[in-house]
Amino acid sequence: MDTRLTNPAVEPKQFYNKEGRKRGHAIALFSGGLDSALAVLLMLRQDIEVTALTFMTHFGCDLGDRSSCGSNPYPTAEKFGFNVKLMHLGQKFVDIVSKPKFGYGAHMNPCVDCRILMLTEAKNFMELVSADFIITGEVLGQRPFSQVKDKMNLVLKETGLSGRVLRPLSAKVLAPTAPELSGMVDREKLEGITGRGRHRQIELAREFGLEDYPNPASGCLLTDEGYSNRLRDLIAHTDRITFDDLNLLRAGRHFRLDAATKVIVGRNEDDNKRIMAYRQPHHHLLEAVDVSSPVTLLVGPATQDNILKAAMITARYTSARNRPSVKVSMQSGETPVIVEVSPAVDADLEPVAIR
Ligand code: SF4
Repeated sequence: MDTRLTNPAVEPKQFYNKEGRKRGHAIALFSGGLDSALAVLLMLRQDIEVTALTFMTHFGCDLGDRSSCGSNPYPTAEKFGFNVKLMHLGQKFVDIVSKPKFGYGAHMNPCVDCRILMLTEAKNFMELVSADFIITGEVLGQRPFSQVKDKMNLVLKETGLSGRVLRPLSAKVLAPTAPELSGMVDREKLEGITGRGRHRQIELAREFGLEDYPNPASGCLLTDEGYSNRLRDLIAHTDRITFDDLNLLRAGRHFRLDAATKVIVGRNEDDNKRIMAYRQPHHHLLEAVDVSSPVTLLVGPATQDNILKAAMITARYTSARNRPSVKVSMQSGETPVIVEVSPAVDADLEPVAIR
């Protein structure tokens, strides 16, 4: 007797003809945060194989950040048994941030374009590995700009993924997707969560034994007001943004002297190190002499006026800020140039500070 027809243990084969108990293969957009982890677990619970994609960008979504868009995906993947692939979106992401087709959210966050880009990459990967559908940890109504029904539908239309993106946390309040309609995924075992509350997610995390997850504050720098102001200024004054330019936005106080000139001053040791690491050959380095001083970059033409202004700003953040004058040295070729300036005061900084 052929038990495959009656034994539920082998029933998945009727969908995929794959070995073992897998009923299907989902590609997950996986930040490592709570919601995307739960979306994966809800699939694993239904014997769906999951390959998770963790995207990285130059805007905070990298593994060095303990945040909802940049936490380390590996511990959860190892604990629960699914694969993770890292993908850096590099220039493609910089392009959508510079010119988003669907605009920005509250700050410089182009969330709709971002979702379109990530889902397009996931779609390409899904086709490459012959997976069946995509899942995300999106919750209807959780984020006002991107996680509302019309924006979710817009993203599906733009990516050509209608019916193939399952949001397990909100599935019951959304239209059924292809894997639900085919019976590959049991819709009844999915969730119907909406809004910003986290009660049900925390309950599910406990149920699954998911312990170490980051809090929901976004790690995306594009939602940060100060960072967004610096980025807006950079885009407005730079023809071709480099990755070093972007990395420098994450360090120090920034001042715009004129369209071609900017000054960046380290706020602490970490900033100083980062500034030195991302300094480019055409940047001029300033430091006060004989006093505790931040590292400063003058980005732009080293005219006498610019050097004096950059030196005054540097002096303002030294241990000698209350002295009438401070010596500041600027590295220029082999010989340092030394200027003596009075430290800038608030009235000097106000018109040039990018906050
Ligand atoms: S906050 Fe918006 S732009 Fe930033 S990673 Fe999330 S969806 Fe993308």
